[in-house]
Amino acid sequence: MRTAEIRKRWLDYFEAQGHAVVPSASLISPDPSTLFTIAGMVPFIPYMTAQQTPPWKRATSVQKCVRTLDIEDVGKTTRHGTFFQMNGNFSFGDYFKADAIRMAWDFLTGSLDDGKLGIDPDKLWVTVYYEDDEARQLWKDIVGLPDERIQGLGKKDNYWSTGQPGPAGPCSEIFYDRGAAYGPDGGPLIDEGGDRFVEIWNLVFMQYEIDEVKSKEEFRILGELENKNIDTGMGLERVAFLLQGKDNMYEIDEVFPVIEAAEKLSGKKYGDNREDDVRMRVVADHVRSSLMIIGDGVRPSNEGRGYVLRRLLRRSVRAMRLLGVDGLALTTLLPVSKDAMAPSYPELATHFDQISAVAYAEEDAFRRTLVSGTTILDNAVTNLKQRAADQGGTGDRGLVLPGEAAFQLHDTYGFPIDLTLEMAAEQGVQVDEHAFRSLMQEQRSRARADALAKRTGGADVAAYEALEKELTAPPEFLGYTQTDATV
Ligand code: ATP
Ligand code: MG
Ligand code: MG
Ligand code: MG
Repeated sequence: MRTAEIRKRWLDYFEAQGHAVVPSASLISPDPSTLFTIAGMVPFIPYMTAQQTPPWKRATSVQKCVRTLDIEDVGKTTRHGTFFQMNGNFSFGDYFKADAIRMAWDFLTGSLDDGKLGIDPDKLWVTVYYEDDEARQLWKDIVGLPDERIQGLGKKDNYWSTGQPGPAGPCSEIFYDRGAAYGPDGGPLIDEGGDRFVEIWNLVFMQYEIDEVKSKEEFRILGELENKNIDTGMGLERVAFLLQGKDNMYEIDEVFPVIEAAEKLSGKKYGDNREDDVRMRVVADHVRSSLMIIGDGVRPSNEGRGYVLRRLLRRSVRAMRLLGVDGLALTTLLPVSKDAMAPSYPELATHFDQISAVAYAEEDAFRRTLVSGTTILDNAVTNLKQRAADQGGTGDRGLVLPGEAAFQLHDTYGFPIDLTLEMAAEQGVQVDEHAFRSLMQEQRSRARADALAKRTGGADVAAYEALEKELTAPPEFLGYTQTDATV
């Protein structure tokens, strides 16, 4: 079943259940606490927090989302895209747990002929918040799920709050079991990597009013909300890859054509080698995200959304280079991604001239950067060798490029560290990575202090957390053989 067909079935189903069909909001988050729209509920936050009166009691959407926090997982797990679409159904003080559970199950397992998805109920497992006996009971009573396929999880996984006083509540997640070939039995609880039990849908039951919030897991429950809300999110790409019998979300109809184009450009075959496969998946994901982000009006720059976009575009070009393609890549890949996405987003076709001009200019700039950076690197290596020779060294063995040089290449020329490592290695030189990481860390701390200072009171604490996480993510050594260049 094509992705566009699942999207259509979704909207038709929930419309028939009395939901207003609301178009996707922009990827530029309507809520100031995040840069990008990270979930289907984001445009509805004012209704959830009762700051505004919703024009409808029930709504449904297929929301474009970008989660930069998932970037390191892209291409490595089967199920994390930087861009993805979240199908949502929402109740604003209308139906609650029982109906949310009933409809989710009906849509997933109901007959294909009735416009539903026809998934075998035996393949589905659910998790509930371990203290939410009501949800556990509803899964048994309404759906008839056996107790052993309902697992309890703690606040970290199965509780929703903004990290601010206001609405909060338990979640219940639905998982698809891909079978014994993907890992041991035992349900999502013991499936660490999520390879066998794929989370497809999260139901959030906004039930309580909380205060005295110390963290997302420590707060006081004031009482039940007067108007309880439902917020759900089903990953469209995840359901698509499972229904299409594919191994992962990068192989669905809306993404795979870019992998095929990357195969053609590079002369490499997808499926031959894990490293190259990851690179191709990264390319397909990042090209699509860039397309969608530019389509929503973002332009490459050195901060905020523009920086994320720049990073995505450069990582795509970089991954193509690692696949052996030194020539222009986006000129081939971007139109392919546009053709795959335009059936659901016709505006991509209408505005493709502007969108592609932005992407191609960035690729061009990055390629020029690579040329200047290469000259700087070559000079630094020559100097290093010269100095070693002057000091009576016995050849190039053990030569180490100072961390400052790698940092300058990163900071001024946008050189990802793995590129510096790779190119230095080609000349028989190592890089003082430790010093490089420390300099990066210092820069991140400065950026974090600036970013926090810029933000004023009243914003969502969750945003601070996300931002902090982003900015202080521990510098990982990825090695120059991997694709995950920190651009
Ligand atoms: P996971 O635990 O797999 O990272 P999540 O719990 O972070 O997922 P939610 O915040 O519950 O995800 O989002 C609702 C749904 O959106 C998920 O059940 C999943 O189907 C989908 N989803 C979340 N993140 C991604 C992503 N990066 N790429 C594709 N789909 C996603
Ligand atoms: Mg996640
Ligand atoms: Mg999860
Ligand atoms: Mg979830």
